[in-house]
Amino acid sequence: MPAYSIKWSYDGEKGPEHWGQICSDFEIAQSGKKQSPIDICIKDIKPLEGKPLETNYSRIPYLVKRVENSVHLFPQETNQTLVFQNETYRLVAFHAHIPSEHLLDAAVYPIEWHFVHENARGEKLVLGAFMDVGTNVSIDMTDIRRVFPEVFKDFSIERELSLDITDFLPEEKAYFTYEGSLTTPPTVEGIRWVVMKNRQTMGHVAHRALEKVIGGTNRPVQPLNGRSIQFYE
Ligand SMILES: [Zn+2]
Repeated sequence: MPAYSIKWSYDGEKGPEHWGQICSDFEIAQSGKKQSPIDICIKDIKPLEGKPLETNYSRIPYLVKRVENSVHLFPQETNQTLVFQNETYRLVAFHAHIPSEHLLDAAVYPIEWHFVHENARGEKLVLGAFMDVGTNVSIDMTDIRRVFPEVFKDFSIERELSLDITDFLPEEKAYFTYEGSLTTPPTVEGIRWVVMKNRQTMGHVAHRALEKVIGGTNRPVQPLNGRSIQFYE
């Protein structure tokens, strides 16, 4: 594994508290006022009027490969979209963090998936979805838990999986939304976050397998700095 290609990490000298000092591109991690993740505190939330989130996902192939300190999945078709407040965003990639990066009233969840979308102007929206771990499993992770360790071993290894993002999302689409940043360097701001309130459940075996690969990939929560968080029910 060519370690020279990774500039940052989740612990030690290149850990989250030091990201802002690693290089000028990463400065925003320290100087930014709209950083992510955050603790979504119920007391800070205002109701959002508007339209329900519209998701248009289907089963398509994804290219799976290691990117920096995680594994990312890239849709091999450009037709996976989400409509947020009349704006259409296209899915460009997704990945997960273990444990969750966002908190809900200080509660941490076992895993948080990030579905990164872009609109026609290149503006990013990240759809965040927590998952519980339990016996009442609502998503089959057999393929993912097999492939994650394989591709993480080396940047040159790639796999393909057939997946439907619908399976990762709760049926009830209540969500929190706020303006933040990417949660990995460079933690650029101007990112629209949509975080699902409800959760699917994955199995213990799958969670343990993923934890071995991407355990500890959560940036600590950042100050809200007066930003508003809205809730659509
Ligand atoms: Zn992420």
